[in-house]
Amino acid sequence: MKTDNVKPIDVVAAVIVSDSGILATQRSHGEFKDRWEFPGGKIEPGETPEEALIREIREELDIEIRIDSFIDIVDYSYPDFRIRLHVFACSVVSGNITLKEHESLKWLKQDELSSIEWLPADRIVMPALEKYLGNVTIDRKSVMPAYTYLEKGHFGLIEKSVPHIISQKDAIVRVTLSSICTSDLHIKHGSVPRAVPGITVGHEMVGVVEQVGSAVHNVKPGDRVTVNVETYCGECFFCKNGFVNNCEDPDGGWALGCRIDGGQTEYVRVPHADMGLNRIPDGVTDEQALFVGDILATGYWAARISEIKNNDTVLIIGAGPTGICTLECTMLKNPGKIIVCEKSEERIAFVKEHYPDVFVVKPESCKDLVMEQSAHGGADVVMEVAGADDTFRLAWECARPNAIVTVVALYDKPQQLPLPDMYGKNLTFKTGGVDGCDCDEILRLIAEGKIDTTPLITHRFTLDNIEEAYRIFENRIDGVIKVAVEGKHN
Ligand SMILES: [Zn+2]
Ligand SMILES: [Zn+2]
Repeated sequence: MKTDNVKPIDVVAAVIVSDSGILATQRSHGEFKDRWEFPGGKIEPGETPEEALIREIREELDIEIRIDSFIDIVDYSYPDFRIRLHVFACSVVSGNITLKEHESLKWLKQDELSSIEWLPADRIVMPALEKYLGNVTIDRKSVMPAYTYLEKGHFGLIEKSVPHIISQKDAIVRVTLSSICTSDLHIKHGSVPRAVPGITVGHEMVGVVEQVGSAVHNVKPGDRVTVNVETYCGECFFCKNGFVNNCEDPDGGWALGCRIDGGQTEYVRVPHADMGLNRIPDGVTDEQALFVGDILATGYWAARISEIKNNDTVLIIGAGPTGICTLECTMLKNPGKIIVCEKSEERIAFVKEHYPDVFVVKPESCKDLVMEQSAHGGADVVMEVAGADDTFRLAWECARPNAIVTVVALYDKPQQLPLPDMYGKNLTFKTGGVDGCDCDEILRLIAEGKIDTTPLITHRFTLDNIEEAYRIFENRIDGVIKVAVEGKHN
């Protein structure tokens, strides 16, 4: 059969390059048994070559790869079919190679490439490969490890280029300390639809300004800064009214570590640096400032919008990290009584140890205690920071008539608002995401010793060990509350 007019079969191949060399795999069956090839396979309908390659390598070798560069497309006619081989240079992102369809593997140095017997099609890739390898010089100073959202269910530490200034309002910050937030886990599990696969995760961080664009005036290289979870323009209607969470700029709102590269890495580009960076006062450590831009901003905002008065009984539902930050900021308002509702024994013990003046109660006894400790048939202010299945109901049930109920929690599911049941209670609900525009004020309170969130940091890791940090944080192992991840340059 003459194959010239036959439509070629599109096939992908991965030239996987590592410090050990270039990966060759040996076929275990078929006509070309024992010959060597670059791993890969057929492109399925609807797939791009890149998608096919990532899938094939996952299936054949049980590893995740990153595609670094296109090398060549070669055509090869076998006696009764033609293939068109798309060849890419790749590197391993995570996993250990497990051979599933091959007999053995070899890592070849460049000068060993012709020492083995390749499949015919793979052999004709060699000139292009030699040319590619001759041209690559990887500048190690321009790459950094970045913990990245690869796809639903998977984060991985991969190499990325160090970011540079794109807009003159940008700053590049060297991350000295970062943390992991529950929202990072939400991204990992696919419950943040706007999160973009491929982005570096992490939106809680502090660091040192490395470089600024010409339009940045509030910070300069060398300044120690907190990085706000929200980037915002400061100029639109919402920003001017303090609703920075709703900033209309394309980079406005929660972008870092969600829609653009975040901080679980060595360097991060921060848009609108004049708005989103706050200088850390001398004498305030990185650990003291670590939560300013996210969970502490959230707690501060929640306490502010809840209009707490002096003799109020305030109920805070949830004593997780954000609940504790909310408690710290509520205490600054000097209400009459504070009740914290929490079900975890570990967290109850934490509150009792660090905040002895606060009532702590489990959900099943919460309503009774609130009634006992409030003058007007319920809490004057309720802040719902738990986000569990039944905590929204608990929140409004524990509120007195005309109370303010502030919902800080992010729920996985829709909640019921049973208006007939609450008719006549005349409640005011406040809901939504933090407007993180009080960071200077929060830093001042930390410097004065009025806010201290360092007890929340129960575990410390280096960036190299961030995988382990996630394992501990995600599985709530070993009494973890928050982890601190040190940047590499420390
Ligand atoms: Zn967060
Ligand atoms: Zn704005």
